[in-house]
Amino acid sequence: MKRIFCLITAAFLGLTPWIAGCAASNTPETSETYAMNTIITQTVYTDDSDILVQNNEILRRIEDEMSKTIADSDVARINAQSGEDVIVSDATAQVLADSIAAAKETGGAFNPALGTVISAWGFGTEDAQVPDAETLSALLKKTDYQNVSINGTRVNAGGTQIDLGGCVKGYALDRLAQNLNDAGVQSAILSVGGSLYAVGQKPDGAGYRIGIRDPEGTENDYMATMDLNGRFVSTSGTYERGFTEDGVYYYHLLDPQTGYPANSGITSVTVVCDNGFLSDAYSTALFVMGAEKGIAFAQAHGADVLYLTNDHHILTTEGFASKYALKITNDSYMAVS
Ligand code: AMP
Ligand code: MG
Repeated sequence: MKRIFCLITAAFLGLTPWIAGCAASNTPETSETYAMNTIITQTVYTDDSDILVQNNEILRRIEDEMSKTIADSDVARINAQSGEDVIVSDATAQVLADSIAAAKETGGAFNPALGTVISAWGFGTEDAQVPDAETLSALLKKTDYQNVSINGTRVNAGGTQIDLGGCVKGYALDRLAQNLNDAGVQSAILSVGGSLYAVGQKPDGAGYRIGIRDPEGTENDYMATMDLNGRFVSTSGTYERGFTEDGVYYYHLLDPQTGYPANSGITSVTVVCDNGFLSDAYSTALFVMGAEKGIAFAQAHGADVLYLTNDHHILTTEGFASKYALKITNDSYMAVS
């Protein structure tokens, strides 16, 4: 499981005083649920106890529509068809269209049509295994995202299989954040697997700080902390899902060119931007691209990134450290840029 560890004991950086009289409670509403194969935690300063009920309903609906493994979800119905059009919900059609756009933008490093290959590896299932090279090269021929057609809510997978695992958590965060915003919430932190959104300050005036996980540690070990206010952050890392066969560790971030785990010399990449869907899709794509290409991509697309390399170097887009008050808490990691 991947997770950016939420530091509920925030640093004393957000010095903005809590504004008396704003529509929020001093006691947060909290929720911890399991959906989309991951833990979802929400802490929301509000007087409206219904908000988290609404948010959990939003999450269920997204999972029911976009999970690959729920039998009658939109995605499962698309994948069960050979050549037939399938009518999907407005939300699924939108996420699919956005994911094809992300594929084009990233030159295919993010590929939502990689389902055949992802399933062959079976990450996270009892059947996880290294597929043989012939099988992989045959399956790779069925992963051209340009064959997917979307007309309104009518979708045709064009011989591919859809897998939205690389972007749906970020999309879910967008929807949750929107619901909070519509309700006038001014302070909250939400975490959906490795994607996270935080806005505002806590009643004591402290801003939200989050931890960036140490890929070599356990799920509660972080190697740095950073501030987050009003933006979305996603991390893709080797630790999230994988298995060892014949002494080699295989992880779930696949290079769509080869069908094998992307071997770009990094252990994780953290992407911050103004949109949850993009932070998530980009984190997967930028893992595949590697640090040099990924940093140039991020700089051209209004995103901030932080890479951790195999040899414990920290590489970032310009200004990352000052923008997010980055503090390295594990001395074995060394900032290079
Ligand atoms: P994330 O943790 O957001 O990076 O998403 C990882 C998940 O995205 C994997 O478990 C797969 O379901 C899927 N995935 C793996 N490689 C890719 C890729 N190159 N493009 C799109 N999705 C991918
Ligand atoms: Mg992702």
